[in-house]
Amino acid sequence: MALTWNRSIEWDTDDWRRFAACRDTDPDLFFPIGTTGPAVDQIAAAKRVCAACEAQSPCLEFALITNQEAGVWGGTSEEERRKLRKSWLAQRRRAS
Ligand code: SF4
Repeated sequence: MALTWNRSIEWDTDDWRRFAACRDTDPDLFFPIGTTGPAVDQIAAAKRVCAACEAQSPCLEFALITNQEAGVWGGTSEEERRKLRKSWLAQRRRAS
């Protein structure tokens, strides 16, 4: 997954939340219990909502910046975000 993106929406305001495709979905879908069994289908279903979401980039950036460990954010699972966060932090350190 690319770690750079063009910001069309500022992540540090709540504006991007207005475009969130998950606004009217059950929040439980995005916070599966565990990563195996039924959670696998739940994560896939949440990611399908993210895939069509206009706020995917700022949502993922928000999750990385605020270190959201639980749930699906910006089309990424907890495990994917943990890995992504390492490269994202390294990239930020290099840039500063
Ligand atoms: S990317 Fe996914 S979790 Fe983030 S706002 Fe959009 S639908 Fe919700």
